[in-house]
Amino acid sequence: MDCCNRNPVIELNSGTKLCRTHFCKYFEKKIMRTIRRFRLLEKKEHIAVALSGGKDSMSLLYALKNLLKRSRKISISAILIDEGIQGYRSKTGKRAAALCRKLKVPLHIFSFRKEFNTTLDRIISSRDSHPCTECGILRRYLLNKAARKFKATKLATGHNLDDEAQAILMNQLRRNTALQARLGPVTGVTTSRMFVPRIKPFYLMLEKEVALYAYINGLYDEYESCPYEHDSFRAVVRDKLNDIENSHQGAKNNIVASFLDILPLLHKRYAGKDIPTCRICGEPSSSDVCNACKLLGRIKHR
Ligand code: SF4
Ligand SMILES: [Zn+2]
Ligand SMILES: [Zn+2]
Repeated sequence: MDCCNRNPVIELNSGTKLCRTHFCKYFEKKIMRTIRRFRLLEKKEHIAVALSGGKDSMSLLYALKNLLKRSRKISISAILIDEGIQGYRSKTGKRAAALCRKLKVPLHIFSFRKEFNTTLDRIISSRDSHPCTECGILRRYLLNKAARKFKATKLATGHNLDDEAQAILMNQLRRNTALQARLGPVTGVTTSRMFVPRIKPFYLMLEKEVALYAYINGLYDEYESCPYEHDSFRAVVRDKLNDIENSHQGAKNNIVASFLDILPLLHKRYAGKDIPTCRICGEPSSSDVCNACKLLGRIKHR
């Protein structure tokens, strides 16, 4: 990417320095390259963006809307999940709603309270809870249900390269090989009409690049972290990985690139014929009862 070299705002791993304008051009070109390389979109799609109000999903909605505005066969909507985290979700939710109004994107809001008759705050008040694991199970469940309800053909999430490198390491450290097979730019190893495929257009973007794009475009002014984030295994892995990247530049890229080398083998090993449905709720599930119903059952007995 050529640059006018006026007031650089970032130095890429390659050593290239870019100004604000050329950085945004580089960033948006990289999204389109990612979409083409991993065949994330067909010509006709309804994309539901999983919007949280954080920098990643705000940038994703903004960039996709901008990049696909001329494509008449692609429509975009947004889904926001309110987990019930006091003092956190209300702020980020307002920011997400404001962006949707500005971009004229329909926003659908789903809450743990309405769907599961509880909140994350209540769920984690028990001593044996794992906030991010439990939040993740219910969020994924609800996002899929919501995307299907609005006839989305793809569910786009703001996961970036840092997130993916962390997830790969977390699965390795826990020897979760089957879960590893579900990572990648398109999530999942099997197809089912009940399951809306998840795509990650920021798969090759570093977190610092997404943060800069959000800042330059005025999408994100104040950082709010979820109060439960610090308790997570992901936070430990993230900090260690950032240390490694600081001393060995390119490490995150290399983790993801080497994972992509073996992903076809993992898909082959774990590909299922069909995704069965949960006997309690009827949602797609790899076992007789889905993780969300198992979790909700456990919560009842706590
Ligand atoms: S940090 Fe954990 S608990 Fe908080 S919103 Fe994210 S997954 Fe949920
Ligand atoms: Zn420039
Ligand atoms: Zn279920």
